[in-house]
Amino acid sequence: PLLARQTQWPPILTEKETTIVNSFDANSIDDWANYYGHQLKIAGKGRDAAVWTRDRWRESGFNAELNEYHVYLSYPLHQSLSVTYSNGSTSEVNIKEPALPEDDVTNRPDSVPTFHGYSASGNASAEYIYAGRGTGADFARLKALGVDLKGKIALIRYGSIFRGLKVKNAQEAGCVGAIIFTDPADDGNVTVANGVPAYPDGPARHPDSVQKGSVLFLSTYPGDPTTPGYPSTKDAPRSDISSVTPKIPSLPISYAAAEPLLRALDGHGLTAEQVNRTAWKGALGAEYRTGPAPNVTLSLENLMEGKITPIWNVIGYINGTNPDETLVVGNHRDTWMIGGTGDPNSGSAVLAELAKAFGKLSESGWKPRRNIVLASWDAEEYGLVGSTEWVEEHVNWLTETAVAYLNADVAVSGPRPYVDATPELHTVASEVLRKVVYPNFGGFNISLYEAFQKSTGAKYGVLGSGSDFTSFLHRGVGSLDVGAGGGPGDPIWHYHSNYDTYNWMSKFGDPGFEVHSAVGQFLSLLALRLADDEVLPFDLPNYAAELRKYHEDLRKLISSTEGATLNTDELAAAIDVFERRANEVKALETLARSRNDTELIKVVNHKYRDFQRGFVSQGGLPDREFYRHVVTAPGLDTGYAAITFPGISEGVQYGNLGIAKDWVSKTAKGILRAADIIKT
Ligand code: GLU
Ligand code: CA
Ligand code: ZN
Ligand code: ZN
Repeated sequence: PLLARQTQWPPILTEKETTIVNSFDANSIDDWANYYGHQLKIAGKGRDAAVWTRDRWRESGFNAELNEYHVYLSYPLHQSLSVTYSNGSTSEVNIKEPALPEDDVTNRPDSVPTFHGYSASGNASAEYIYAGRGTGADFARLKALGVDLKGKIALIRYGSIFRGLKVKNAQEAGCVGAIIFTDPADDGNVTVANGVPAYPDGPARHPDSVQKGSVLFLSTYPGDPTTPGYPSTKDAPRSDISSVTPKIPSLPISYAAAEPLLRALDGHGLTAEQVNRTAWKGALGAEYRTGPAPNVTLSLENLMEGKITPIWNVIGYINGTNPDETLVVGNHRDTWMIGGTGDPNSGSAVLAELAKAFGKLSESGWKPRRNIVLASWDAEEYGLVGSTEWVEEHVNWLTETAVAYLNADVAVSGPRPYVDATPELHTVASEVLRKVVYPNFGGFNISLYEAFQKSTGAKYGVLGSGSDFTSFLHRGVGSLDVGAGGGPGDPIWHYHSNYDTYNWMSKFGDPGFEVHSAVGQFLSLLALRLADDEVLPFDLPNYAAELRKYHEDLRKLISSTEGATLNTDELAAAIDVFERRANEVKALETLARSRNDTELIKVVNHKYRDFQRGFVSQGGLPDREFYRHVVTAPGLDTGYAAITFPGISEGVQYGNLGIAKDWVSKTAKGILRAADIIKT
């Protein structure tokens, strides 16, 4: 026995839940994945898949329309990279991902070349240095050690932080270009060097695979960079983007391409031991020294075309009997390539199947209590563009009616489920995870909850950024993001590479599409609870408990930061008030239920719906007004990972105790506003 049963087994389902679960069909998900996996869907060029998505949703009984915005995007025209050695010989660095006879979509004339979205158009020729992961701390360390960064090209390893911030850090360090490579050290033991065959023959990474992706400086704000804070309608005024996009050109490359470049630095500059930073040394055959090597230069060409061009979200909906409460469920559809079967079309396939399941319920005459909106976002990859523009257009209505936003981006890239969510959703998520059967390596004898427990210790992650929940969360709409990913020993997924294909998914990622089905059942059953439970299934006392944990983390951060002292009593007191009110509103819920008092139930529902709006600060965080949630934000120097009590924590982290002190007060006030909203 792997784990003690955490749950009723097999799960007991209501009639509606049974309809949903039985409607899920892994073969049909396989068909949707196959469809999406063969369409070019790079933002602004994927109208066909938008129309197809709309039509599937309509067949399932949703009203559905295309929703167009005119946004600034950039496309690759010509990219190349060459290296010149000190003896004067020059060689081309391969930046292409070769076509694979075993994988049809890698072979098409409309395959997308490797490039970085929103990268600076231009050339750079210079000696180069290796800068580790390219974090702020990495560059600071190089500077402190006297490595000459000015005028150099930075060779940077992917991972740990958002790639746009790597380019930003290189630019701020005085570099003239950036090359970002994938390192097989991040693949654990599943590597060619370890004797594992590479895709398409086996589960290891293809040595030539390249991670594309946006290099927008999105720590400032997501969405169309030319329309910060307002929707990109056709005639919208446009603002200057030079402070949020790179000024230096960049390119992504594979590990096979990076290895000789790293090796050419052997013997030059500081050793990895001298630099002494974590994750500095990767798994390639090189010393990972800083360089530069005298007269060893890179020449990088990156010709881009920027334009304002239409993109297409698909918005589907079923009106609830209760028009003042709305649930939004979304997934982006755009990809960096034709495939994208993991990112994001595992989620798109799941959403098509979710629509079908709700169609089955509707056929039986069912109407949800709350409005259900389905969204298929475009241009997420460039910087959460489609979702952000839509939220900006509908912000008032969302503020008035949204109860939650559920997101599935990469629904499946491996077998290990995870859920990141705002704390009021943890309890209902656990209940629903227990109702789903997980395809445990071909067996169906454990629940999704047990799989979640195995992969995360049953811990819910804190939402940072990196996908479409961002714009909802920062307007005070509670959010949840679900997926299943790979871990040690699992087949390597080719993130943002042309090899993220249907062929990979059906042979390695999720043969049989049963993990897709489990994630989809979870999302659908959760949507049913949130759209249809008489009382919103929110756990506010758990929100209070999490706030306490974040406060403890903050105290630890303060005591471990040299020279930092900060009184956070005001924050602690606000959390006390919130906790008391959370318990009181829970008691009110119990009373309303026991009396079957529909008016009182409505009052409770509206408190639950609205409380999180209180966490939205007026001016936003220091230097990034978009990010307004006082409890959580993407870390300023991570881009993806969350930081809790961001105004305070970052003040402490960057030595601005004045700002930190201000934010103790602002954060406490935000928590008190939320407490006020739920006051009974
Ligand atoms: N998910 C995309 C990426 O990681 C976009 C992230 C973002 O713009 O926040 O590249
Ligand atoms: Ca905008
Ligand atoms: Zn994605
Ligand atoms: Zn992506």
